[in-house]
Amino acid sequence: MTPSRTTRKDDKPDNRTHFGYEQVATKEKSSRVRGVFDSVVNRYDLMNDLMSGGLHRLWKRFAIERARLRPGDYVLDVAGGTGDLTRLMAPIVGDQGHVVLSDINSAMLAKARPRLIDHGIAGNVSFAQADAEHLPFADGSVDCVAIAFGLRNVTDKTAALQSMYRVLKPAGRAVILEFSHPVSTSLSRLYDLYSFSVLPLLGEIVAKDAASYRYLVESIRVHPDQKALLAMMQQAGFERCSYHNLAGGIVALHIGYRL
Ligand code: SAM
Repeated sequence: MTPSRTTRKDDKPDNRTHFGYEQVATKEKSSRVRGVFDSVVNRYDLMNDLMSGGLHRLWKRFAIERARLRPGDYVLDVAGGTGDLTRLMAPIVGDQGHVVLSDINSAMLAKARPRLIDHGIAGNVSFAQADAEHLPFADGSVDCVAIAFGLRNVTDKTAALQSMYRVLKPAGRAVILEFSHPVSTSLSRLYDLYSFSVLPLLGEIVAKDAASYRYLVESIRVHPDQKALLAMMQQAGFERCSYHNLAGGIVALHIGYRL
């Protein structure tokens, strides 16, 4: 018997899903997510620095160190937004390598292009407007797929993980940086206080959009925790999966290989 799609661990019945704490029609979620990033695009980078006190830069550096890229590698920055990971990866893969920054949202890609050029990154980067669930790349064509703070926003995370696995070459690796779940109860309480009171207020003041930052906070709470995401990666086919907690589990870096 074919297993029912409604029994997948991370999912609601097929026609409903979560958008933060709200239940929405599955087919509506990606347009709601697009609305969030259309709304915050101009303040996105500033907000990242303010919300994390600059820590997101260290987390991204750590992720790329762990990706163990080599000159000549062909790599994907999935849900790459304004290009932070691409900016770190492009100098490592060099002129013989290539980075494709892909994102579903054209406004984020439009922000990424000039930003990368301003940082002297140009020759070895290209852009693709693409849904992480259906990456438009050939099977076994990519050395490393990286996704930072993107998976949480994808409607069908299982499909995205399978798509990431499919495009990897043998020995290729996926690097998934994402908000996760604090490991200690006291940190969790503090983090809740900060997230639910300070972040929407900051969103209102800086980006004139409290609702989008409330979505951010809620979407983190409904995202699979460290172990659940690890299990989802294994189910998608990844091997030698592991994770590393950052900031006490507020963020986690998951790595998996296609052997
Ligand atoms: N990776 C960037 C970073 O770390 O700064 C951007 C992260 S931002 C929080 C999330 C990004 O995911 C947005 O640019 C959004 O457009 C993108 N996104 C949301 N759903 C997506 C999907 N299904 N496929 C590809 N990108 C998606």
